[in-house]
Amino acid sequence: MPSFVSRRKKLAKLIQQAGADALLVTNFKNVTYLTGFTGDDSYLLAGPDEPTIISDPRYTTQLSEECPGLKQEIRVPGEKILPVTARLVERKKIKRLGLEANSATLSLRNSLEEALPNVELIATDGLVEQLRTVKDKDEIEATRLACQQARRAFEVVRAALTPDMTELDVAAELEYRARRFGAKALSFPPIVAAGPRSALPHAAPTRSPIGDSGFLLIDWGVNSGLYMSDLTRILVLAKISPKLRKIYGIVLKAQLAAIDAIRPGVTCEQVDRVARNIITKAGFGEAFGHGLGHGTGLEIHEAPRLAVGFQTKLEPGMIVTVEPGVYLPGWGGVRIEDDVLVTRSGCEVLTDVPKQLEECTLAS
Ligand code: ZN
Ligand code: ZN
Repeated sequence: MPSFVSRRKKLAKLIQQAGADALLVTNFKNVTYLTGFTGDDSYLLAGPDEPTIISDPRYTTQLSEECPGLKQEIRVPGEKILPVTARLVERKKIKRLGLEANSATLSLRNSLEEALPNVELIATDGLVEQLRTVKDKDEIEATRLACQQARRAFEVVRAALTPDMTELDVAAELEYRARRFGAKALSFPPIVAAGPRSALPHAAPTRSPIGDSGFLLIDWGVNSGLYMSDLTRILVLAKISPKLRKIYGIVLKAQLAAIDAIRPGVTCEQVDRVARNIITKAGFGEAFGHGLGHGTGLEIHEAPRLAVGFQTKLEPGMIVTVEPGVYLPGWGGVRIEDDVLVTRSGCEVLTDVPKQLEECTLAS
């Protein structure tokens, strides 16, 4: 069965369980997941009956290429998406319409209520997102490719680093190289943080030259087409200081132990705790101020989250990042991040960029 059809079948069950006759999918990434259509500004009316995509004339050719056979409701130029949606819901005699509470706006809800006074609107929470957590074969392959492209771009950039390059130069080079290796784009604006700036977990690259810093934190990822990778590595640009060696050792130990703990049935919180306990015992618990990881897929941050309070059990096919960090203001931060696929017997690390601490030779 083609994957989009099987995804929509699974969704139909969840829609029924939520007490709705159909779901108006307004999150464009969810529309892509369910149909293969990569444009935006389009909704999908999904349910037990044949689904219909509600789009506009800009996309007719793209729709026929990306999702042939899918029923379309194309609005005429100048017509808004809401009246078309309302007409479709009426025609299909839907009495209970599910809305995606995390994506539908209050204004959409109010307008639908006004246009469809006899239809009960039901707020649903993450039905498609729940399906998206478990990746199928095609999604895993696309993520593997995104991991390979990220590695290749990184290797080329690392080999060509010079002391006068700025954080922004490194970020630009990474993007250029990733695209030359076939990536569609980077997954997100990369973090390139030299020396003390690496203590900011989400530092934006600046014009400071990297040569003056002892080490560089790079957090980057590649979008291979639709699916994404996300990695972090530390590059040492001077002699390794005892403090860096110590902090790096703690973070690496925590990361390896957490990866070792990943297998089906373990909760997201348990994996976070494995890393957090090691960092806390070493005396740096307060310096690890974020969750251990997150799912990746059509979006760079998606469910499940590896963090305290998240009781989701890991299942084969989930892809999560494992990224513990220790951030010491004024000195710097160390984070190590890999992408890990949950398998039937344990897990597989998809990102194969070396992570032993070593001094990197700068080109002149
Ligand atoms: Zn990252
Ligand atoms: Zn991440």
